[in-house]
Amino acid sequence: MIRVPILMYHSVSARPNAETKPLAVHPSAFADQLAYLADRGFTPLTVADLVATLHKNNDRSLPERPIVLTFDDGYADFHSEALPVLERHGFPSTVFLTSGWVSDAGKDAAGRPLDTMLSWAQAREAVSCGVEIGGHSHSHPQLDQLRDDELRQELRRNKALLEDKIGSLVSTMAYPYGYSSARVRREVRRAGYWAACAVNNAIAADRHDVLALPRLTVAQGTSMKMFSRAVEGNQIPLIYARERALTKGYAVVRRTRYGLRRVRGLA
Ligand SMILES: [Zn+2]
Repeated sequence: MIRVPILMYHSVSARPNAETKPLAVHPSAFADQLAYLADRGFTPLTVADLVATLHKNNDRSLPERPIVLTFDDGYADFHSEALPVLERHGFPSTVFLTSGWVSDAGKDAAGRPLDTMLSWAQAREAVSCGVEIGGHSHSHPQLDQLRDDELRQELRRNKALLEDKIGSLVSTMAYPYGYSSARVRREVRRAGYWAACAVNNAIAADRHDVLALPRLTVAQGTSMKMFSRAVEGNQIPLIYARERALTKGYAVVRRTRYGLRRVRGLA
């Protein structure tokens, strides 16, 4: 069986703001985590590389200890804090970019960015250093709450803008808030994505749907001990189990809200 930990990062900053703080990782913790991966012989690959390997239907072309590093939203600190450390180790990674949040999005600006975001030039520079750019919707809505036409627009506008500005094919994406429904996954496939990442806090295995690849959250409270246990796959730390329960509860609340909206729509 193929098992590949896919890590999910957000902001890498010593001074996150109130909104980015819960999921932010301090630059020194980030450096320690990457040093650990290098010491233990892990070989990072991008989400697109992983999926291409899975498509070949054998695990022979996977490196000895594969791991995937992903960064959601496209914070400017990816360029200033994370990229230099990744480069030092020669580690590739995947950044899931919300196109309407890009700092110089101009007339394409949409949604409400949580912090200073990457510019298009910084995203292109990252690509030249081995970073894969993936989609993360255009304005970062809860995709499952959108009407079909809005959903298609969010996915397609994001993919087209990224491909236009980056100049290469965008084949993977991550769901804002990590959550998707069967309808959302169908539209993601129709928009031309080969794979998509969720959250779930489990280690990705070949039994998983490539349109809902689970990822492991790395956040402010992730100690080195928890990090090593998670990537070694020995034990998914307790905090993850708790988060998983919270995510489930949240989905129920949102489903109820969606149900109510539909009832109101009929009235
Ligand atoms: Zn996000």
